[in-house]
Amino acid sequence: MTSPRVEIDLGKIQANARYLVRRLAARGISVTGVTKAVSGHPDIAVAMLDGGVAGLADARIKNVVRMRTEGITCPISMIRAPMLTETEDVIQYCDGSYNTEMDTILKVGAAAKLQSTSHDVILMVEMGDMREGILPENLTDFATRVTATPGVALRGVAANFACLGNLAPTAGDMAALSRLATRVEGACGPFLELVSGGGSANLPWVLGEGSTGRINNLRLGEAILLGTDPVTGHPISRLHNDAFALFAEVVETRDKPSSIPPVSIAPKRGMLKLVRCDDLRARTVLAVGQQDTDTSGLTFPSGIMLIGATSDHTVVDTTKSVVSVGSEMKMGMNYSALMRAMSAPDVVKIVHGKQKMNGSAKNCETQPYLTLV
Ligand SMILES: *Cc1c(COP(=O)(O)O)cnc(C)c1O
Repeated sequence: MTSPRVEIDLGKIQANARYLVRRLAARGISVTGVTKAVSGHPDIAVAMLDGGVAGLADARIKNVVRMRTEGITCPISMIRAPMLTETEDVIQYCDGSYNTEMDTILKVGAAAKLQSTSHDVILMVEMGDMREGILPENLTDFATRVTATPGVALRGVAANFACLGNLAPTAGDMAALSRLATRVEGACGPFLELVSGGGSANLPWVLGEGSTGRINNLRLGEAILLGTDPVTGHPISRLHNDAFALFAEVVETRDKPSSIPPVSIAPKRGMLKLVRCDDLRARTVLAVGQQDTDTSGLTFPSGIMLIGATSDHTVVDTTKSVVSVGSEMKMGMNYSALMRAMSAPDVVKIVHGKQKMNGSAKNCETQPYLTLV
């Protein structure tokens, strides 16, 4: 089979989504499935939807168009603030977007009016990740201006954690977001349907005991896809960690000294002096490299260790294994390795379990957004 390739078990992705949807529903929280790490792969999106997620979100319009082209009609939102140069497409393909700039919202509203539609705006609040976000002290003024903007509807507020920084949100952060939601409603009227607390980094908080307050949504990518916690990298219990595997072919395997051969030339006598080296290690070269994945995020079969990688080669120590040229090595991927492999054109993607997906959830008919009543 062609390699490098990613093999994808849709059943495990669906099971992860289903488990998280069920656990979070018990806490009054809906799940938005985040597809950016898989380039909006439509079969994976359908697996998430079959697992019960209430809608999808992606950071790139190209990925959203890909899902729409495959017939996915459920609510999809842009979780990266739209670029001013893509507002028309965002209106056409997305139901809503996460925003932090008034200029963008004005342009989005104008584009929506031209298309005789209305676009949902969710305001991203800066709560310490220091990536995107409106400062909390400016939020109510900002929200008031949004509610006065034609073509857009203020649908909610959201926060983001552990993306740029690596800090998990605290119960205090979540309580602060709840208070902000209520304050915005007090200042400018509309009921905020969506209070989205963050991504997979929030799972320890949401699966804990404390009050969830006004938080009624999480946007989950890593936990559904890999079953891991983005802050610690540790597996989350009851979730599959092996829905994805990367395969690469062995193009060389050979014993080599573990360090530069201790050879010295004695120039006067024109002789090569070889120093005995008994530290030979088996090194194996895989036909996969930094162009295909983040090689530092790969996990290898037991006993095999990464030595290094270049654009097209990955070198591993296989002293403890038997490896032959032409055989394939199976590897696990962390989020960063997965994201790069899924978007690399030279990495083939093979899905398993597609026939078991009923796909009826493509339009989310049975999965309305949860609203607080
Ligand atoms: C990527 C992203 C998410 C999903 O994060 P995970 O850690 O993969 O769950 C949620 N919200 C925003 C704004 C994102 O950029």
